[in-house]
Amino acid sequence: MPLTTSEIQALDSAHYMHPFTDHKALAEKGARVITRGEGVYIWDSEGNKILDGMSGLWCVNVGYGRKELVEAAVKQMEVLPYYNSFFQTTNVPAVQLADRIIKLAGERYSHVLFGSSGSESNDTIVRMVRHYWTTLGQPERSVIISRKNAYHGSTMCGASLGGMSGMHAQGGLPIPGIVHIEQPYHFGLAPDQDKDAFGIEAAGWLEQKILEVGADKVAAFIGEPVQGAGGVIIPPKTYWPEIQRICDKYGILLICDEVICGFGRLGAWFGSELMGAKPDLMTFAKGVTSGYIPLGGVVVGKRVAEVLIEKGGEFNHGYTYSGHPVACAVALANLDLIEKEGLVERVRDETGPHLAHCFAALAEHPLVAGAETFGMVAGLVLMKDKHQHLAFDEDLEVGMICRKHCFAHGLIMRAVGDRMIVAPPLAMTKEQIDEMVRLIRLCLDATLQELKERGYMD
Ligand SMILES: *Cc1c(COP(=O)(O)O)cnc(C)c1O
Repeated sequence: MPLTTSEIQALDSAHYMHPFTDHKALAEKGARVITRGEGVYIWDSEGNKILDGMSGLWCVNVGYGRKELVEAAVKQMEVLPYYNSFFQTTNVPAVQLADRIIKLAGERYSHVLFGSSGSESNDTIVRMVRHYWTTLGQPERSVIISRKNAYHGSTMCGASLGGMSGMHAQGGLPIPGIVHIEQPYHFGLAPDQDKDAFGIEAAGWLEQKILEVGADKVAAFIGEPVQGAGGVIIPPKTYWPEIQRICDKYGILLICDEVICGFGRLGAWFGSELMGAKPDLMTFAKGVTSGYIPLGGVVVGKRVAEVLIEKGGEFNHGYTYSGHPVACAVALANLDLIEKEGLVERVRDETGPHLAHCFAALAEHPLVAGAETFGMVAGLVLMKDKHQHLAFDEDLEVGMICRKHCFAHGLIMRAVGDRMIVAPPLAMTKEQIDEMVRLIRLCLDATLQELKERGYMD
């Protein structure tokens, strides 16, 4: 007999500690049990069909139930399920995947160091950039500048690089040598200012910080091309070229965390390509395997790789699962699928523009004060009075109210404060985008009605 939903929920709350979860609150209502996925849909243990507007957690880019990925894993497990790359050994899928990623990333890059997640890969980067500067005889260049509201993972380094105040409040973070500047959030910080001028100003905060810390102490700047978990914060187009100019001026390494933006999400293989940035290092994870199996890594630019390889000696770093053959085989099959179905081009030319068009129409809704998209990420802001730019009281948790209505309507949409965001599978069709947007509209209507009934809105 399969377990009933309430039996699973009881076991869940007895023994399974979830990421980023208030367990006392969860125990009162019980976790939703997801049992199956196909295409852009998932099903829960009660048989409800749900449109997954978040690709799991920004990762299931080719959609659920793709046999090609399953077969690649099975085949590799039969031949060689595991071997390490520590002691002068290597394996075929890891070599092939590194080569493939370098070809996609372009001629500025030469090597890939694999890990199993985005967090680990950002830890790798912190150690790598410090080892780089030490090798060059400048060990005092160790400070890494990041941004508030950034998300770079949940390990000690990842969470420190990240700019989430809630995460810094626990466990004594950030670790030393990591400082933050304000994010380039035009709508939130300076809605009345010209967007392009704001982009230049926001990038200028990097230069201010460099001068404050001392240019000879700064190792690198890190940023997501589009901030994901922070609420889909899309920078003005002037921002990244100016960031690049400032990094060049002071000789600072530029790191782009492409964990969400990489592998097609924005309509290019890497988001930085579209932003006018030329990172020396890129972090990837999530979309590289479409989440079917854990894999992450660092794409290392020649500037860094040449120093490390020629003069760095042994880099005392790596993971048991670096270059895991099964994970790499699944990634290769995933890249095959993305290429065969032309998903990157589809996002750029077809589905991305369609999503943008649909979100522009959602901006007309009385609750929606702003709506933005880039490729296949989108965000909208809920406001009490959009004309007066008046936000809801934070304690009302209006985003959570909206998310509850999304669940009830069979749609996964995420709330970040009062920003509602989606990052659907890149395999989503235009018709499925229409279906998603129709659901979003219903959820906004239901949210508006509840807010009026509760007297939160006129
Ligand atoms: C998810 C995410 C990470 C962390 O990846 P994990 O695999 O959860 O460790 C890092 N950076 C960005 C931009 C992310 O979205």
